[in-house]
Amino acid sequence: MASPIIVVAEHAEGKVRKTAFELLTVARALQSPGAEIHAVLLGPGANTAASELGAWGADVVHVAETGLEQFAPLRWVRVIADLAQASQPAAILFSAGSMSRDIGGRLAARLNFALASDCVELSSDAGKFQLVRPVYAGRARVTATVAGSRPLIATLRPNAFAASRPVSAAAGKVVPLPLDPHAHPEDLRAIVVETMKSGGTRPELAEAAIVVSGGRSLGSAENFKIIYDLADALGAAPGASRAAVDAGYAPHSMQVGQTGKTVNPVLYIACGISGAIQHLAGMRTSKYIVAINRDANAPILKLADYAIVGDLFQIIPALTEEFKKLKRDA
Ligand code: FAD
Repeated sequence: MASPIIVVAEHAEGKVRKTAFELLTVARALQSPGAEIHAVLLGPGANTAASELGAWGADVVHVAETGLEQFAPLRWVRVIADLAQASQPAAILFSAGSMSRDIGGRLAARLNFALASDCVELSSDAGKFQLVRPVYAGRARVTATVAGSRPLIATLRPNAFAASRPVSAAAGKVVPLPLDPHAHPEDLRAIVVETMKSGGTRPELAEAAIVVSGGRSLGSAENFKIIYDLADALGAAPGASRAAVDAGYAPHSMQVGQTGKTVNPVLYIACGISGAIQHLAGMRTSKYIVAINRDANAPILKLADYAIVGDLFQIIPALTEEFKKLKRDA
């Protein structure tokens, strides 16, 4: 049988993350005739989430919860490596993020697979993988072909690939993964002891379709309220520049950029952000960029699709009011 493609699907307490649907869509495009798509769902809530993946094209969904209550990178690596050794996949796909950064390299080393991180395009031509990934903080793109015949581990940038359901899909057979929670205690040398939720009911920054970010020019944490208000009016996730985070105006979880999160929304609104290369690295692939800046020569305006030149303390509240009005009238 042709080699399957394994998709490592992420979920939050049993709710499948959107990135998993993107990975399954890519897996279907890469799938060679007769090859199956296997999804892996690990950790608490995996069983609840499993039923959703069949409709997106997973032929088999491997699930395990027991022994995986806390995220332990080495244990995750072992579980996925064991599955890969048993099924000999052509590729293993992850969403690019903290989890894949933690385990992708380790898994590649253990399996002797090739590794390509942060891909924004991935295709297969006669079984050879071709990929595109941004380099130099997003200033250039590298197109690469995986040499030789080693299977590929690829991490795919969230929102860079559209998610679409197959016209017809199998039910997705759910299979429990055999896992002895007492075996290999050395795998638990590093575990995540606590996960803190930020942002309340707001969308997850890395997955949001709209992001409203504020910069140093906001001047204080209190003033950031206008960013939250605009974000809430649009159902967006709020973000921030590093200068705003370093000044204590916003938490680090909101930082967009080279040393923060990479976002790829449909709409990115940069409020009082100059457009330093390290900030652009985290948002330049956004579909539409709107920049609000009082300096008509600010670098961000060169990248922006729409620029509003003026004082953000006047413009942002006015925009928020307009969006609220539009929603009320809709
Ligand atoms: P500034 O550069 O001070 O820009 C403020 C902007 O606001 C200006 O364009 C100004 O015209 C405008 N403005 C001021 N007042 C108003 C007003 N009332 N109305 C409208 N506009 C106004 N930065 C990141 O963002 N993310 C990262 O991940 C990141 N990683 C980094 C990693 C390294 C190794 C290094 C060296 C730097 C990194 N930086 C990062 C920092 C980056 O270089 C910039 O310093 C930072 O992005 C600047 O933030 P800012 O645009 O908010 O502030």
